[in-house]
Amino acid sequence: MNEQFLQYIWKFRLLNPDLQAEGGEKLAVLHPGIQNTDGGPDFFNARIRINQTVWAGNVELHTRSSDWIRHRHQSDPAYENVILHVVYENDQVIRQKHKDMMTTLVVKNNFPASIEEQYKEIMQNHLWIPCYNLLNGAAPRVMRLWAPALATERLNAKSGFILRLLDEYADWDEVLYILLASGFGFRINALPFELLARSIPLRIVRKNADCLFKLEALFYGQSGLLGRHPRDKYRCSLQAEYNHQQAKYGLKPLKPGLWKRLRLHPQNFPDIRISQFVQCLFSCKAEPGFLLNTSDTAIMLEFFQLSASDYWNTHYRFGKTVGKKEKKIGPASARLLLINILAPFLFAYGSAWDVSPLRMKAVELLESLEGEANHETRMWGSLGVKAGNALESQALIQLKRKYCDQKRCLECRIGLKLLDRKSTQ
Ligand code: SF4
Repeated sequence: MNEQFLQYIWKFRLLNPDLQAEGGEKLAVLHPGIQNTDGGPDFFNARIRINQTVWAGNVELHTRSSDWIRHRHQSDPAYENVILHVVYENDQVIRQKHKDMMTTLVVKNNFPASIEEQYKEIMQNHLWIPCYNLLNGAAPRVMRLWAPALATERLNAKSGFILRLLDEYADWDEVLYILLASGFGFRINALPFELLARSIPLRIVRKNADCLFKLEALFYGQSGLLGRHPRDKYRCSLQAEYNHQQAKYGLKPLKPGLWKRLRLHPQNFPDIRISQFVQCLFSCKAEPGFLLNTSDTAIMLEFFQLSASDYWNTHYRFGKTVGKKEKKIGPASARLLLINILAPFLFAYGSAWDVSPLRMKAVELLESLEGEANHETRMWGSLGVKAGNALESQALIQLKRKYCDQKRCLECRIGLKLLDRKSTQ
C-alpha cells in the first residue's frame, strides 16, 4: 500500500458506502475534494457528512496515521482546516491543536480487495510494460482520445530544453541551427553533433555559406575526423582550407573519439551525416528559419532528403574507397527531423511568444506525418495499440517512457480503465 494508491481510492470514490470513523461517527463522502499536488493537504474543499452535519474543508491521506506526526503536520497551520484524516492503518491516535481527536477514517477493508490485487499485479510486473498481460481492447480507444494530450506533454518537455538553449544564445536562429545539428546525429551521435554546431557559431557558418567546400572544410575540420595524416586528395584539400579557417576564427576542434559508429549502418556514419548537414546549411544559406515559412509537409520532407557530396558516393569513411552508392537521406530519416526538431521548435517558439496558432502548427505537422517505426511503436503495435500518425507515435513514446517505465499507472488513463474494470467485476 502506498499513498498514491490511497489517493486513487479516495479520488475515484471506490470506498464502500457505509463508512464509520474511528470514533464511531457515521461518514458519507459527498465530494472527495480537488486533488492538490503542491504543498499542503492532499485534497482541498471536500464535503463530508459526519453524523448529521455537513463539513467542508481539506482531507489529508496517509498510509499510517502516525505519518501525521512524522510529517510535522501538527505544527503546520496549512493543516488546521483538515476535516478528515484518511489512513490505511490507524497506528496512533492523532489530536489536532487545541482540539479533540482528529476524525479518522481507516480505509483498510473498506474497498473491493480485487482492485488492490490488480494494482499489486501491475506494480510487481517486470514485463515490457507493467500491464503487458492485462491490456485489452480498451487501450486503443483510450489512446485515440488521450494521444493529443500525451503528445503535447512531450512537445512541452522538449520545449524546456529549447527554451534553455534560447536563454544561453538569445537568438532563435542559433538555437534552430544547434537543434538541427543534433537532429542529424539521429540519437546515437546527437551530442557530438550538438557540440560540433556549438563549436562553430552561426555567424561563421554564414560567412562561408556561399561555398559548399569551405563549409565542409569547416565542419570536418572541427569534427576532428580529418585525421592527422590525410592522404587522399580531397581530404588534403579540406585540411588545407580548414587550417586557414582555424587560424582565422581561432577554432578548437572536437576530439574524434566523441563520434560513435558501433552498431550503426555505414549509411548513418557521422562522416556521411556531416556532409548531409553541411548540404542542409548550404541549401538554406545558413538561414535555418526559412524552413518555418511553409506549412507544406511535402516541401519540408523533400528539403531534408539531402545527398552527401560526391566523395561520399564511394566512401563511408575518409580514405577507404567502397563501391559507388549515393548517400541520400531517406524519407523515414527526413521525417524524424520534422518530428524531433521542427515540430518541437515550432511549439517552443509558439510557447515563448504565447502564440497558440504556432503551437497548433506543431501539432498539425505531427498529425500530417507518418509515425516512427521503432522498437517502441512496434511493441505497442504487437499489443494492438497502433500509431496512425506521428502525433500518436509520439504519444506512445511518451506513455512508455514517462508513465510505464516510471510505473505511473494510477495517473495513466489505461491504468485507470484497467483498475476500474476490476472494481466493477
Ligand atoms: S502506465 Fe498505463 S499503459 Fe503503462 S503499464 Fe501502467 S497502466 Fe499500462
